[in-house]
Amino acid sequence: MFKIPIPTGGELTIGGPQKIMIAGPCSIEGREQILQIAREVKAQGAQMLRGGAYKPRTSPHSFQGLGPQGLFYLKEAAEETGLVTVTEVMEPDELDLISKYADVLQVGARNMFNYPLLKRIGRTDKPVLLKRSFMATVEEFLLASEYLLKEGNHRVMLCERGIRTFDTITRNTLDLASIPILKKMSPLPVIVDPSHGTGRSDIVIPMAIAGLVAGADGVMVEVHPNPKKALSDGLQTLDFPHFRDLMDQFQAICRYIETQAQRSARAASEDSRPSSGSQPSPPSSRKEAAS
Ligand code: PEP
Ligand code: MN
Repeated sequence: MFKIPIPTGGELTIGGPQKIMIAGPCSIEGREQILQIAREVKAQGAQMLRGGAYKPRTSPHSFQGLGPQGLFYLKEAAEETGLVTVTEVMEPDELDLISKYADVLQVGARNMFNYPLLKRIGRTDKPVLLKRSFMATVEEFLLASEYLLKEGNHRVMLCERGIRTFDTITRNTLDLASIPILKKMSPLPVIVDPSHGTGRSDIVIPMAIAGLVAGADGVMVEVHPNPKKALSDGLQTLDFPHFRDLMDQFQAICRYIETQAQRSARAASEDSRPSSGSQPSPPSSRKEAAS
């Protein structure tokens, strides 16, 4: 669990009892676009705004991001809405500029194995969202996070974003099993990204909910007012009405998970209370029944 300052004051806790929603476009495409999205996702209850200014595109001919101009727009959106921002760093040379304009540094799937970049980011005091490479085992993913921790940066979230498998019906296979495993093996908060994890906007909502039920501390999704016109990742991007549906379900499932957690905590404290008097506890007590 750790805290990140909110641009307009206060702090956002990551990995605590409150699960977080990170939403925004794949790429920052212009001032109006990012402002409009920031206002909408804030109004629906998101705590963080995502958006790439430097984009790691598979094809060098595709839109590569607005670069520094995108960072200025992202900062403006953060200052207006109070959303904490996250954007991708692809190379060490961009680090100082990005650190000035964004609150959290994203290391993308393609750079999870870039150890010099991880070491460099590990020496900053900026929180990091580390995405799992589509070719990484859980063990390799955790070792990548240790490059950041070893350099002294402990504010790291792990993001499960799907891995490459033989199946092409989805863009990636969202590895839901990795979520409770990461939670067991590491103290770091875990975020689920069902947008990249599926590549299909029609199944982003159920997979976001599945990720939360599996134990994720938050969700990251791509949102755009007109996904068909998005300059990147439109097929996996939610429009505003679908983002509202997601937020309704997100809030309902968070309430349910919280109630269940309180119930288990109460049961555990009742079980550990010493029984009063000299009477032996009845044979039907939970511990004895379980043994
Ligand atoms: C992104 O978040 O837009 C992105 C490029 O993600 P990934 O690195 O997981 O492909
Ligand atoms: Mn994307």
